[in-house]
Amino acid sequence: MPEETIFSKIIRQEIPTELLYQDELVTAFRDISPRAPTHILIVPNMLIPTINDIKSEHELTLGRMVVIAKKLAAQEGISEDGYRLIFNCNQHGGQEVFHIHMHLLGGKPLGPMLS
Ligand code: 5GP
Repeated sequence: MPEETIFSKIIRQEIPTELLYQDELVTAFRDISPRAPTHILIVPNMLIPTINDIKSEHELTLGRMVVIAKKLAAQEGISEDGYRLIFNCNQHGGQEVFHIHMHLLGGKPLGPMLS
C-alpha cells in the first residue's frame, strides 16, 4: 500500500480545512501556499501517488476532477479571463505531495507556462 500523505487527512476531515467541494470520488480545497489569487487543489479521495500510477479504472475519477475544476473556476469568477490546470509528476515535474492533485490557478495573468 502506498504511504498516505497529509491529503488523506484533509479528505477525511481529520485536520481543519475548508473544503470547497467533496463527493464520493473527489475533494477540493485551497492550497495552503497560494501561488495565485485562486489556487485550489482537486484531489481524488482514493490514494493514487503519481500520474504514473493511473489505471483505466481511474478514468471516471480523473474526468470528475476536470468537471469540478471547471465548476470551481466559475464559482471563483475566473472562467472568462481564464485559468490553468496542472498536474506535477515526480521529481522533474516538481511533485511534492505523492497523492495526485490538480492545481487550479487563476485570478491574474499567469504568463507563459514554461519560464
Ligand atoms: P505539488 O508540488 O506536489 O504539485 O503540490 C503540492 C501542493 O500542496 C503545494 O502547492 C503545497 O502548497 C500544497 N500543500 C502541501 N501541504 C498542504 C496542506 O497541508 N494543506 C493544503 N491546503 N495544501 C498543502
